[in-house]
Amino acid sequence: MQDRNTDTPVRVVTPARSFITGGMPDDPAVVCAGLRKRYGEGATAVHALRGVDLTVQRGELLMLVGPSGCGKTTLISVMAGILDPTEGSCRILGQDMTALAPRPRAAFRARNIGFVFQAYNLNPALTAAENVSVPLRICGAPLRESMRKAEAALELVGLGDKTESAPGDLSGGQQQRVAIARALVHQPQLIVCDEPTSALDHANGQRVMELLRRVGTVDGRALVIVTHDARIFEFADRIAELDDGRVTRVGTPGALAGLPESAGMHGGGPGTEPDAGSDDNRPPEYGTPPGGNGTGASARTPGCCTD
Ligand code: ADP
Ligand code: MG
Repeated sequence: MQDRNTDTPVRVVTPARSFITGGMPDDPAVVCAGLRKRYGEGATAVHALRGVDLTVQRGELLMLVGPSGCGKTTLISVMAGILDPTEGSCRILGQDMTALAPRPRAAFRARNIGFVFQAYNLNPALTAAENVSVPLRICGAPLRESMRKAEAALELVGLGDKTESAPGDLSGGQQQRVAIARALVHQPQLIVCDEPTSALDHANGQRVMELLRRVGTVDGRALVIVTHDARIFEFADRIAELDDGRVTRVGTPGALAGLPESAGMHGGGPGTEPDAGSDDNRPPEYGTPPGGNGTGASARTPGCCTD
């Protein structure tokens, strides 16, 4: 068993409970505390995260917005266990990723986390269905079952007729939907998406969001989505605004939209300031955050988006 309370790398192979279940049901999906991330050293160092405290509850869809370069991709990479923070901690489904050695960490990520990269990151040598099947294969599922589930996931994103296509034969929007299917196919507890609708037209963006909302927030799962796309804000339970490596505001879409200075939600400039008086790292909260059990979120989940 691994010791979840120590920073010592764990070499024991016996899987902990969290490998199988994605943590205890009471654990929030993500708890970031005092997160800092610095790239490089000395005078040329870039401080991408400057102290982020943010919790994502199970059953919640949280969107991250903010101007280019403010640290969104860095933050979700830490949240997905792809990147280690320089300081602070990030517990994912109850697990401190820095306490895991590389192999169990990779196993934990493969089983519990789905990631949609901004650049899709599809393997050009594989068909669409083979790309989507990768997470299942990594988790040890048999080939035939993996391919069947991959084809079903492609059907869900409207690409049932493209299962045999190579990524190079697909449009950007189609590749993006393949990447989304790949993030969903193994039913991970946490799905993290970097601009998942950036290459999609309005109709496909809505379909994909309905799908993500429907499958990504049930059964104690959670979704974190980086976006500039104001058309999909309505799908969020909460929106967190980032600016210059800090979370400046957190609230429901309605509450944030009703406030002045909501430019950050629309990709606005770095002028967005935290509310007066909030000089610590805790952003002001607006609106009613969803309950930790996700019932509020799921209750208004849009219906199935499949044809
Ligand atoms: P966003 O996703 O909001 O555009 P990023 O998290 O990609 O922001 O980047 C935050 C800051 O960190 C930017 O100044 C960016 O140039 C810098 N940065 C990101 N990745 C690296 C890296 N691997 N090495 C050095 N600097 C980086
Ligand atoms: Mg980015």
